[in-house]
Amino acid sequence: MKRACVIGWPVEHSRSPLIHRYWLKHYGIDGAYEKEAVGPEDLASFLGSLDARGYAGANVTLPHKEAALRLAAVADEAARAIGAANTLWLDQAGRLCAGNTDAYGFITNLEAEAPDWNKGRRPVMVLGAGGAARAILHGLLGEGASSILIANRTRGRAEDLAEAFGPAVGVTDWADRDRALAGSGLLVNATSLGMTGKEPLTTDLAALPADAVVADIVYSPLETKLLAAARARGNRTVDGLGMLLHQAAPGFERWFGVRPDVTPELRAQVAASLGAG
Ligand code: NAP
Repeated sequence: MKRACVIGWPVEHSRSPLIHRYWLKHYGIDGAYEKEAVGPEDLASFLGSLDARGYAGANVTLPHKEAALRLAAVADEAARAIGAANTLWLDQAGRLCAGNTDAYGFITNLEAEAPDWNKGRRPVMVLGAGGAARAILHGLLGEGASSILIANRTRGRAEDLAEAFGPAVGVTDWADRDRALAGSGLLVNATSLGMTGKEPLTTDLAALPADAVVADIVYSPLETKLLAAARARGNRTVDGLGMLLHQAAPGFERWFGVRPDVTPELRAQVAASLGAG
């Protein structure tokens, strides 16, 4: 039996088991997917004993994404560019390999929900400069975004990202984020604002073009206030659940040998677990 797991601290909230167990059952695979609560001080020894624990690989969630990349012997191009790993596997030689599928998940979902998001190659506005924002910048630039503006509460983090990703990426003050929406073709919330239990995201969309796409990577709640406000003024919206589902697919294929589909039935099951069925 092949086994994989999600490693986090805490890990209880993770929706990964729901997604991977759905696919295991759907494809009739003799496999298992577990949750592993591993503290930062135990990560290195846990990853060093993945094989002995019977795991073919793992997903990695907060706070281990950067450390997992450092501990891996081999890393793919996305993980290196993003500076963090969310998917681990053991190669034929038993070496720990690291990948990052967050950019893939975000872009695959965006292309599915709003295929013309880059029509006219208008500027993209990204709110946030954390790990997820870094993955999204990597994905957007890889798909031909010509100009991206970042607004982040801590301006220095946005400036670090702009420096890392080159001249197509600029920075605006967090306080200027509403005005800076003028002319944008896509707005992405990559902060944790708006998430259940966090502060709301206060953004006035008045300057955003009516045909712009608004994406929120927060998926709990599924319909964030940002998405509700965007929908109310006629903007197309892309929620965070699609990214979550798509980022899981490459790992499942690595561990279990089948490239799984993201289907409406899977989406409905995970949405129901978020109280949005
Ligand atoms: P992170 O590295 O901790 O970054 C958090 C970001 O939110 C930073 O830009 C931070 O700004 C900002 N922020 C937090 N509190 C704020 C406040 N009170 N006011 C203004 N800005 C604030 O987290 P992350 O890993 O990037 O994740 C961000 C969100 O994306 C989380 O909600 C996570 O669940 C979600 N996510 C979703 C998916 C998916 O598949 N849909 C994947 C990954 C992450 P500062 O730099 O100023 O602190």
